Amino acid sequence: MTARPPLVGAATWQAVMQTANHRCQCAGQCGDPHTRGGGRCDRAHGGHHHRHGGGTVRLLAAPADPAHLTLPAHRAAALPAGELAAWCPPCHDAARRTARTAEAAPPDADALF
Ligand SMILES: [Zn+2]
Ligand SMILES: [Zn+2]
Repeated sequence: MTARPPLVGAATWQAVMQTANHRCQCAGQCGDPHTRGGGRCDRAHGGHHHRHGGGTVRLLAAPADPAHLTLPAHRAAALPAGELAAWCPPCHDAARRTARTAEAAPPDADALF
């Protein structure tokens, strides 16, 4: 592992984090309504995970639209900073899992019959 921020270039990552105020921008896309954070995840970059042993929070710059979270890394990295959002790893993983599940489901099962 290098110190380079994940997924996107350092400049893009900085721009996204500045817009996000270095705080996860998830507003429930992960399935957690984040009521404690006022409807937005309260994990901040450099903060600590609430659970023991979680380590330091490292926010990711990833597509703001959960539907785009399943894009291959090189395509996600090509998105402009305006289409990216700050995600903490737990929200990112959960939102992506949700998007994958939605994608895997047949869009119109009736059409098969
Ligand atoms: Zn989060
Ligand atoms: Zn979340």
